[in-house]
Amino acid sequence: MVTLDVQMENTACPLGCPPADETILLGRDRLHNLPGIFTVVKCRTCGLMRTNPRPTAETIGYYYPYNYGPHVGTRVPHQSVECNSIPFWKRFLKKIFQFNTQRLMLLPPGRMLEIGCASGSFLHQMACNGWEVEGVEPSEDAANAARSLGYLVHTSRIEDIPDTHRLYDLVVGWMVLEHVHNPLSVLKKLHRWVKPGGWLAISVPNAASFEFNLFKDAWYALHLPAHLFHYTPRTLERVLVQAGWRVEKLFQQRVLTNLIASSGYRLQDKDPQSRLGKFLVDLPANGVMVNVLLYPFAYLLSLFGQTGRMTVWAKRME
Ligand SMILES: [Zn+2]
Repeated sequence: MVTLDVQMENTACPLGCPPADETILLGRDRLHNLPGIFTVVKCRTCGLMRTNPRPTAETIGYYYPYNYGPHVGTRVPHQSVECNSIPFWKRFLKKIFQFNTQRLMLLPPGRMLEIGCASGSFLHQMACNGWEVEGVEPSEDAANAARSLGYLVHTSRIEDIPDTHRLYDLVVGWMVLEHVHNPLSVLKKLHRWVKPGGWLAISVPNAASFEFNLFKDAWYALHLPAHLFHYTPRTLERVLVQAGWRVEKLFQQRVLTNLIASSGYRLQDKDPQSRLGKFLVDLPANGVMVNVLLYPFAYLLSLFGQTGRMTVWAKRME
C-alpha cells in the first residue's frame, strides 16, 4: 500500500509476450521523495523493461506535484516571446546541445503536434521557424502557459483524444513515451495521425547505457514511479515497429546530466545531509556551463551509444 490516494495495478508486457518477467531492481521516488517502493521488471521474451506493479492512470497524478520540473523548465520567459529576441549565444548553445531536435527545423515547415508539450518552449521554437504547431498536455497549468503564447493546446492525455481527420507532417514527444501507460496503443494512434511519409521524433532515457548498470536504482533517469517503461535502443525499436513505424535515425544526446545527478543520489544514500550530493543532484537543472565543460566527454560517450538519453526519428510505414 503506497497511500490511500494511489491505486496500483499489475500489467503484462504491452507487446503481448507470454507472462514471464525477471526482476531488475527495486527503487523509490527520489525526485520528490513521495512514499512507495517500486519494482522494475524485464520481459523475458522481448527484453522491454517496465515498472510493475504501477500506479493506475487515474491515480498516478499523485507523483506529478505542482512543481514538477519539466513543466517549470519549459516556460518561455516574457522577454523571449518575440521570435528574434533570443540572443545569439543561446541559439548557438541550443544548436550544439539539442542538435537532434534542432535538426527538425531543417525539415520543410508543415503541421506539427507535440505530445506532452509542457509549458510550450518547443512549440514556440518550431512556430518561430514557420511551423503550424499544436500541443497536447495533461497538466492544466502547463497547458495554460503554452496557450498564453497563442498556441492550440489540448488539456488531455493523448490516450483520451479521439482520432482527428487533419493529419500532421510531424509528431514529437520529448521524454514522454516512458510516462505513458500503453506505449503501443499511443504509437499506433500517432501512426494514424501522421501523413504517409510523415515523421515521429521522440526522446527517452537510454537504459542500455553504462549509467543504468552503474547506478541502478540511483540512476537519475529512472524516475520511479513516473517512468513506467525503461527503453533500450533495441526495445524502443521493437515497440515502434510493432506500431507500424520504421526507425530511420537514432541519436545519442550529448549530455551527461544523468551521470552527474546520479552520483549525487549515491552520495545522498551514504549521507542524506551530503552538501556535495545535493549540489550534484541540482546541478544539471542549474548549470548550463557544466554541459559546456563536459561536452567533449559527452560527445565521446555518444559515439559508443553510452549517454543516458536518446532520440529516435521514425517514419510512417504503410
Ligand atoms: Zn515482452
